[in-house]
Amino acid sequence: MALTIDGKAIAKQIRQEVKSGVAALLQEKARIPKIVAVEIGHDDASESYTRNQARTAERLGIHHRLDSLPADAPFSAVKEHLNDLAADPKVTGIMLQMPLPSHLDESACRAQIPLALDVEAVTPEAAGRVLQNTHTVAPCTAMAAMLCLESACPEGLSGLTVAIVGRSGIVGRPLAMLLLHANATPIICHTRTKDLASTLRSADVVIAAAGRPNLVTGDMVSNGAIAIDVGTNWIESENRLVGDMDFEGVAAKASAITPVPGGVGPVTVAVLMRNALILAQ
Ligand code: NAD
Repeated sequence: MALTIDGKAIAKQIRQEVKSGVAALLQEKARIPKIVAVEIGHDDASESYTRNQARTAERLGIHHRLDSLPADAPFSAVKEHLNDLAADPKVTGIMLQMPLPSHLDESACRAQIPLALDVEAVTPEAAGRVLQNTHTVAPCTAMAAMLCLESACPEGLSGLTVAIVGRSGIVGRPLAMLLLHANATPIICHTRTKDLASTLRSADVVIAAAGRPNLVTGDMVSNGAIAIDVGTNWIESENRLVGDMDFEGVAAKASAITPVPGGVGPVTVAVLMRNALILAQ
C-alpha cells in the first residue's frame, strides 16, 4: 500500500515560514504583503477558494482584499481597475479570479497585471520566466505538485520520467518546465494522446491534472510509481470532493500518492502565500 503524501503537513511548514517572513517585515517596518483578488461577476466555486485564501492570509499577517466588478464589466473597465491597483504602492500582489465572463479575453486581462505583482505567475512574462528558469515565483498549483512530489523523492527528481495528464497553462505546461529544470523527463498527455494507459505505465511518476474523476486507475500506473493527484472534482450526488485518480486502485500499485482532499490543494494555497511574501520582499 502506498505512502500517503501529507499535503496538509507540507502546507503547514510553508505557512510557518511565511508567517515568520511576514513578522520579520513588520519588525523591519518594511512593506507588508497585500493581495488584491479581483472577481468579475460571481462564481460559487471560486468564492470558496477566495474565502480560504483570505482566511489563510489573515492568519499569516498578509493583507487580503476582494474587489468585485460586475459580470458585464467591459475590458476597458477591467483594464482601468487593474491599472489602478498596479499604481497603488500598498498592493504587492494582484490575482484575477477565474473563470472570467465569456466576453472577456483571459490573456488580454491577465496581461494587464505587471510581472512584479503577478502573485499567481499567470501573465505571459511570468510564463516566459518559468520557461527560462529565471522566475522568482511559479504558478501555485504547478509548484504545489512539485513540492508534493519532492517530499516523496528525498534523492531528487533527476532522471525520473514523469507523465502529466493535462496541458493547461496554469498546471500541466508550467509543471513540465519545473520538472525539466529539476532534470526530470516530463511527458505531457492530453485529450489527443493516443494510448494514455501505456504512456502512464512507462513513467516513474504520474501526475493527473485533467479534472476528470477516475481518469487514472490502478492498471494505468506501474508498480512503485509515485502518484500526484491535482484534480479537484465535486461530486454533487455524493457531496464530496474527489481527484482524477481512483485512489484505492492507484494506491494499491503506487509507492506514494497524494489524497484528495488533503494533498495538492492545501499546498497550493500555502504556495500562494509564499509567492505573496516573495513579491513583497
Ligand atoms: P483545464 O480544464 O484547463 O485542463 C485540463 C487538461 O486535461 C486539458 O489539457 C485536457 O487536454 C486534459 N484532459 C482532460 N480530459 C482528459 C482525458 N480524458 N485524457 C487526457 N487528458 C485529458 O484544467 P486545469 O485548470 O488545468 O485543472 C485541472 C484539474 O486540476 C481540475 O480538476 C482543477 O479543478 C484542478 N485544480 C486543482 C487545484 C488545486 O489546488 N488542487 C488548482 C487548480 C486546478
